[in-house]
Amino acid sequence: MNTKITLISKIIFVTLLACLPLSLENCSTDTVEFAQFAFNGATMGTTYHIIITGRPIDSKERSAIATSVDSVLLDFNRILSTYEDQSEISRFNRNESIHPIPASQKLLQVIKAGLDFCKASDGAFDITVAPIVNFFGFGFEPGENRFPTVDEIDSWLQLTGCDKLEVGDSVLTKSDPRITIDLSAIAKGDGADYVANFLMDKGHKNIFVEIGGEIVTHGHNKEGELWKIGIDRPTFGGAPGADLQHIIQLTDMAIASSGDYRNYREVEGKRISHTIDPRTGSPINHNLASVSIIANTCLLADGISTSVMVMGREEGLIWLENRDDVDGLLITREPDGSFKEYMTSGFKEYIFD
Ligand code: FAD
Repeated sequence: MNTKITLISKIIFVTLLACLPLSLENCSTDTVEFAQFAFNGATMGTTYHIIITGRPIDSKERSAIATSVDSVLLDFNRILSTYEDQSEISRFNRNESIHPIPASQKLLQVIKAGLDFCKASDGAFDITVAPIVNFFGFGFEPGENRFPTVDEIDSWLQLTGCDKLEVGDSVLTKSDPRITIDLSAIAKGDGADYVANFLMDKGHKNIFVEIGGEIVTHGHNKEGELWKIGIDRPTFGGAPGADLQHIIQLTDMAIASSGDYRNYREVEGKRISHTIDPRTGSPINHNLASVSIIANTCLLADGISTSVMVMGREEGLIWLENRDDVDGLLITREPDGSFKEYMTSGFKEYIFD
């Protein structure tokens, strides 16, 4: 088995590549035919890892690439981060006007994608879910340490729904001044696409871009093979990469995952997930532990993985099988603690082991 594997983790990313990408200097294994330049950094409250293979890249160019990727990501955060007070989305969230609000093309594009996922999933995916996410302490505001009352849930349900936002050519309109948006479920995936496209535009054809577990691949790794990616078994508290469910191989495709086993809290003795079912106003409560989706873009993979995570195994698998643009692996946690996997017929083709 090839041990040069890159592992998906939602919080911490682990790589078993021969060269561990710790810094610009110590992480290059140049050979004439398959030089590799790997670097990493922090963004969106998580980390990113990028690998470029192909022609040798000298230290000046490496430095320029790393600096420009950082700057691309800073611009991205300035538009889409609800964790930045002065970002465009934070200002939009605070704006209580119900009249059209001018918005950048980037914000409009991601919000439009969010509304499309909302419609396609019949409201399982919903970017207006922010008040509920925040109440449970998974968002950009400190949460409560209790379960909500029925009245609180009812009031949130008045404030959520994709019909409450309208995207125009250059404006956004809320139907209620209190509507707030949370793009955390899709913006990391879109960010990975954004960085990958930026690098491709610069002429790099063999790239691996990972932001907080969402991955875009193009071309080949330094062995000239498809990119190998490990999918973790969804064990609570398990170290990333310690226990793999599968290794998959990809090129010119993206993969995104959602799960209940890394981002959760205990409230009144009960474990609650950061994935919210907007149809009930509560955290999901079923045995689907993780979903990994492969698609042409990471934005698509990201939106679909959260949607399926909300739907649960049965509804999610049927929904996936009816789509021809994605493939998915679903892992359930069984009453005896074991895991069971389900996948779309096309997913098998990506499995390496
Ligand atoms: P995913 O499964 O991909 O998405 C789950 C998240 O989506 C939830 O946490 C919630 O926010 C939202 N959500 C839950 N249910 C639904 C639903 N039904 N429909 C739609 N959305 C839903 N975190 C920080 O701590 N500090 C930061 O500075 C920071 N900056 C960020 C900047 C940006 C631009 C983005 C996109 C995120 C940032 N984050 C930050 C958040 C963080 O990195 C992750 O995005 C977040 O923890 C969820 O990612 P995930 O992949 O684990 O979950």
